[in-house]
Amino acid sequence: MNTIRFDFRSDTVTRPSSGMRTAMADAEVGDDVFGDDPTVRLLEQRMAAMLGKDAALFVPSGTQSNLLALMSHCGRGDEYIAGQQAHLYSHEAGGAAVLGSIQPQPIAHQADGTLALADIEAAIKPDDSHYARTRVIALENTFGGRALPMGYMRDVAEIARRHGLGLHLDGARAFNACTALGVGIAEFTAPFDTVSICLSKGLGAPVGSVLTGRQDLIDMARRHRKMLGGGMRQSGILAAAGLYALDHNIARLVEDHRRAKRLAEGLSAYPAIRLDMPDTNIIFVDMDPDVGERFMAFLNEQGVGITGTYGQQRWVTHLDVDDAAVDGALAVVESFFA
Ligand SMILES: *Cc1c(COP(=O)(O)O)cnc(C)c1O
Repeated sequence: MNTIRFDFRSDTVTRPSSGMRTAMADAEVGDDVFGDDPTVRLLEQRMAAMLGKDAALFVPSGTQSNLLALMSHCGRGDEYIAGQQAHLYSHEAGGAAVLGSIQPQPIAHQADGTLALADIEAAIKPDDSHYARTRVIALENTFGGRALPMGYMRDVAEIARRHGLGLHLDGARAFNACTALGVGIAEFTAPFDTVSICLSKGLGAPVGSVLTGRQDLIDMARRHRKMLGGGMRQSGILAAAGLYALDHNIARLVEDHRRAKRLAEGLSAYPAIRLDMPDTNIIFVDMDPDVGERFMAFLNEQGVGITGTYGQQRWVTHLDVDDAAVDGALAVVESFFA
């Protein structure tokens, strides 16, 4: 990779701002495994209150947060239902199966990213010794950059309730979803027993996710976090970045979404590039693989960072790409097609 001038690879590439670094340096800390770190406690209390949940747990990553949630809902030999392309099923190294002895029951997504309600119902196992016990349904929102509607999440919650199942939300980018849907975070997360949110994506913190939910589940998750090696000590340094992110980097997500739209409009001017207008900050682009291969090599050479294979690419806007970066990247794209 050449030096990246315009970095659209992911919203995880953001670097902590000087304000955030100051907040980290000034954080009051203690030993969080002893429950002594006031800044971690503040972050956990604040997230629980924002989401209207009993409790919250600060964890190193979204992957660990999802795993803790599944391990808290399920025991050995139990089962979770999730989408075939759900991050927690397909992109977390099979952790629930490997470390939790929890069996996945993946379901194909519909074209709009949702899971069909009938498919979910059909996947729930009857109480029979032949089957793993279905314990929890896990949804993801945003999913592939799309904000899935509230009505869908409530419908799935109704199924979960009717069958006595738990409901987990992988809301790595939940604030992006809320921004796109125009709903508050508490309303958005109300249907769920547990919710995982990343601080290290669009919110700009260097590290960390927060799992929120029902008290008994979060208590269990705290035990599992220790077991998995996620008990941290003076982690108030990191939690301070999260608190700063909550204060400064939620309201501005609309800017990322606006820039993604502008970028998508610019890209869609070229017939070789096929895309849907983004709901949030992520654009997926389809190209013929031979053109795509040359296109990606050119972008790389010119210092425009994106991810993907030759046929499909992903562009992500975030805190560290401004309007000039969007213009700069579009100028590179123009010079490729010229
Ligand atoms: C990034 C992501 C995660 C995992 O977060 P990490 O902090 O990278 O482990 C989980 N779910 C979704 C939907 C994500 O985008």
